[in-house]
Amino acid sequence: MNNINSIEALELITKANNLSLKKGYDEISLERAVFLSWWCDKGDCKFCYMSTQKNKIKDPTKAKRRVNNILAEAEMCSRLGWNIEFLYGGYK
Ligand code: SF4
Repeated sequence: MNNINSIEALELITKANNLSLKKGYDEISLERAVFLSWWCDKGDCKFCYMSTQKNKIKDPTKAKRRVNNILAEAEMCSRLGWNIEFLYGGYK
């Protein structure tokens, strides 16, 4: 996965905004996936963040997230008005 810096991110956001306005969209929604673990045994789906982590994780048993952290993230999403689109638990 390519890393982008904050300038590139702002340029991409501006580009997306201009395209949305050009298409006549006046509303956006933000969606987020909540990960229950950082490990996925399959880990090769190109669209998924988990596939970028598989070869960085030495011990999958330590890649589980703490319940408090997951709940805090869900609460933050709720307060920000973001939709939670997926709960990813990993494969296997
Ligand atoms: S969590 Fe699901 S989508 Fe992501 S790499 Fe694993 S199997 Fe693929």
